[in-house]
Amino acid sequence: MAEPTRESGRARAGTSGPPGRLRFAVQYLAYRVFSARRLAVLARFLPARSAVLRERYPLGMQAPEFARQVPADLRSVAGIEKDPAAEAEAAREPLRSLFDRWPEADEHIHRVGWRNFLRMEPVIRETQRRVLALNSRGPVTAPAPDDDPEQLTKDVLEYAHSVGLPIVGVAEYDEKYAFEPRRGNEVGDRVVVCFAEQEYEVTQSLPSLAAYHAAFSTVAEVYRRTELVTEYLRARGYRARLNNTEDQGVVIAYAVQAGLGQLGLNGQLLTPQFGSRCRPCTISTNAPLVFGKPVDYGIPRICDECKICVRRCPSGAIPARKAVHRGVYKAKIDPARCVPVVAAAHGCAVCMKVCPIQKYGLDAVLGEWERSGTVLGKGTDDLEGYWFDGEYFGARKRPKIPQVWLELGPTVYAEPPRDRR
Ligand code: SF4
Ligand code: SF4
Repeated sequence: MAEPTRESGRARAGTSGPPGRLRFAVQYLAYRVFSARRLAVLARFLPARSAVLRERYPLGMQAPEFARQVPADLRSVAGIEKDPAAEAEAAREPLRSLFDRWPEADEHIHRVGWRNFLRMEPVIRETQRRVLALNSRGPVTAPAPDDDPEQLTKDVLEYAHSVGLPIVGVAEYDEKYAFEPRRGNEVGDRVVVCFAEQEYEVTQSLPSLAAYHAAFSTVAEVYRRTELVTEYLRARGYRARLNNTEDQGVVIAYAVQAGLGQLGLNGQLLTPQFGSRCRPCTISTNAPLVFGKPVDYGIPRICDECKICVRRCPSGAIPARKAVHRGVYKAKIDPARCVPVVAAAHGCAVCMKVCPIQKYGLDAVLGEWERSGTVLGKGTDDLEGYWFDGEYFGARKRPKIPQVWLELGPTVYAEPPRDRR
């Protein structure tokens, strides 16, 4: 690895630009001027740029099946560790998304991180427009076909792989995973969960502007491809609705239920093939598809031994211990510490970058565990090192987050952080 320098760090982090007072003045003015609403208005006049994506699994390829036997000492539960009684009790309280509960967080992310959005906002808006257009087409009028569920499921999955969705599964719709204002939008009792892979190389540069763009490009692309699967289901005579972000509800719950991965300590779905380096989209349908089953990939126990994301999170937003939240046994990320860093540091996602399952894949991680009883890459700069705010932080060093970053809310955000000056 090349010797890290401040300049190369800035370039990697996408923070190069006019130095000194001029840059500060431009950034500060932009901070004052931009808001989510203004950015959305401005985006109408920008041409939509196509998604930038390079994948390891080109069109038509399914991600390799995970075939390795999970070592006995890493086995725990299939799917997510839960307290079903507590989950049922919690479901009586309406479930709301982060930005619905906390709209100022969305505003803050746009205002502080306006540069991140400027290029991608037209792509996002184009994606939203397509989802609306697809869903506003009338319901299917063809008579219900007499398909064999096994064969239909095989056909749908094969078609999804052929259009560039390497990980796909089916789960049962569950009202308790729907966000409150969106309940009732489903058109059937099945949810098809589709994932597109996010580019590998650029993801390793997190947090960076390039990685931020890669994430949004992948989101745009997974919608475009899932739209094709939605149309495929309709052409087969079924009702199918492409879910937008809010309609998707708790995607992790469906993905785990479909056997596509398990919940990581970083609060993300970890697939065996890509960890959390993939982006989801779901379809609601009445097609009689066969459900997947939750799988124990050994991920909860690996997380207990690893905890790299806990140690490396720049703001200490990930607790080291799991607790029961809405009936699910997990580490609850503190949004008051996470969101301001996401806004100021190109989406942050250090917790994705340093995850060994993201970087090496679960097969390699379990192989190392069997060989040495250690977590692959733990303690190494290769896995744990990252650039942050123009500086390199090796495995033993963590950035100190300026207090001003943590003070959420445009009115208290007195000055742009260092990487905006
Ligand atoms: S996104 Fe960054 S701040 Fe938030 S939990 Fe992950 S590492 Fe921590
Ligand atoms: S970094 Fe380690 S503890 Fe965190 S999610 Fe990945 S495997 Fe689990």
